[in-house]
Amino acid sequence: MTASTRRWVRAGGILVVLLALLFPTHATAAPPVTGAIGDTWQRVRPMIGDPLEPQFCGLQQGGCAQRFQRGSIYWTQRTGAQEIRGAIRDVWGANGWERGISGYPTSGEFCGLREGGCGQRFQNGNIYFHPRLGTHRVFGAIFDGWARVGWETSTIGYPVAGESCGLAGRGCSQRFANGFMYWSPASGSFAVTGRILDHWAANGRQAGRYGYPTSNESCRTEGGVRICDQNYQRGRITWRSDRGIVTQSAATTTPVTRDPAPARSQPGGRVDCSVQRCVALTYDDGPGVHTNRLLDTLGRNDAKATFFLVGDRVPANAATVRRMRDMGMEIGNHSRSHPTLTGLGSAGIRSQLADTQGRIRAAAGVTPTVFRPPYGARNATVDSAAREQGLSVIMWSVDTMDWRDRNSSTVTSRVLNQAQPGSIILMHDIHSTTVDAAPAIVSGLKAKGFVLVTVSELLNGTDPGRVYSAR
Ligand code: ZN
Repeated sequence: MTASTRRWVRAGGILVVLLALLFPTHATAAPPVTGAIGDTWQRVRPMIGDPLEPQFCGLQQGGCAQRFQRGSIYWTQRTGAQEIRGAIRDVWGANGWERGISGYPTSGEFCGLREGGCGQRFQNGNIYFHPRLGTHRVFGAIFDGWARVGWETSTIGYPVAGESCGLAGRGCSQRFANGFMYWSPASGSFAVTGRILDHWAANGRQAGRYGYPTSNESCRTEGGVRICDQNYQRGRITWRSDRGIVTQSAATTTPVTRDPAPARSQPGGRVDCSVQRCVALTYDDGPGVHTNRLLDTLGRNDAKATFFLVGDRVPANAATVRRMRDMGMEIGNHSRSHPTLTGLGSAGIRSQLADTQGRIRAAAGVTPTVFRPPYGARNATVDSAAREQGLSVIMWSVDTMDWRDRNSSTVTSRVLNQAQPGSIILMHDIHSTTVDAAPAIVSGLKAKGFVLVTVSELLNGTDPGRVYSAR
């Protein structure tokens, strides 16, 4: 060994000691990543890196989450475990995380959209990233209207700003790359773009002579002339490639096909939900101390609803149950004592359903044909117990989260923003805030052209054991 080799060996030894000090191999163990969050992490680890801290639970809707080097994973029973990262996570976080209007992510981020965009689905709407236009949320009625014209592939393209509300008639609008979406409870949710937008804007938009749009624009070619029409509350705007803008005021406008058509119940007849815009309001967990007040509101407005009753509450409230029957409300089964039925054996499930059928029959002489499992918890055993009792299984398509927020205006706006023809809307009449919201919900839905019907009317009858969540 030469002197110079000895120097290298000594230097190497010092280096080894230094490295051992700097990078101890038995430092704090990485936090574990387990369960559904662990399953998702296996898939997205290259994108979000390693855990920064252990999983934490107790979030809204019973959710859990875990933070990673470059993102998070959020889990709930209903949404599964979804990763969220980057600009979409920043926008979501800035708007209240899972407590914001978007709710939890229901998909991972998906890329490869037009112009290099990415998107992610949430419980209420989506969030979109565009390399030049930024990252913005689209939710509620504006999301629904934008979806109908083709999302980011529509003529108006990607969102370039958030939604802004407080317009005339409680309307909202949102700016997109090539136009706007406008929504109000009375007019619906429609896109405005191009030359028609220019003309409408020059005439004062929704506050001007035309009011809100009541259709999307529809275009055609006649004898080599391109013609586009759009209907508004107080007239129609037409653009022709040969003559430019041609307008008609409401007085001279032939009855236009409103999209969607305003609903009208047939006088004295049954509602036909295959042609009308029906929704079913459903109220769980009663009867309770607020139920009669809710029935007053529904009766005043000639609105129907479905009540999923807890059997244990029926005997003491038999008069209320009879009043429901007399008013034409639908009475459904919501188990005897509101347990998580999937945790019971088939005998336990059967007695929960059968006892409630018996109590409702004893109180009001009617036998329910619709059943809603407490917490929405169902499996094959629950479904077959329902079938044995002649009950269909009624889930929902709009979850108002009224039990969580206990805020009348929040509940009202969720219903009005999310109701679609055929929706089944979940609420709980044991909360005074939900009952307080009923007048605004009923009048708001009617203003949007909805007819309020029972679940059985909405579905035109149901089959025992079959599961429904919307028409
Ligand atoms: Zn319940």
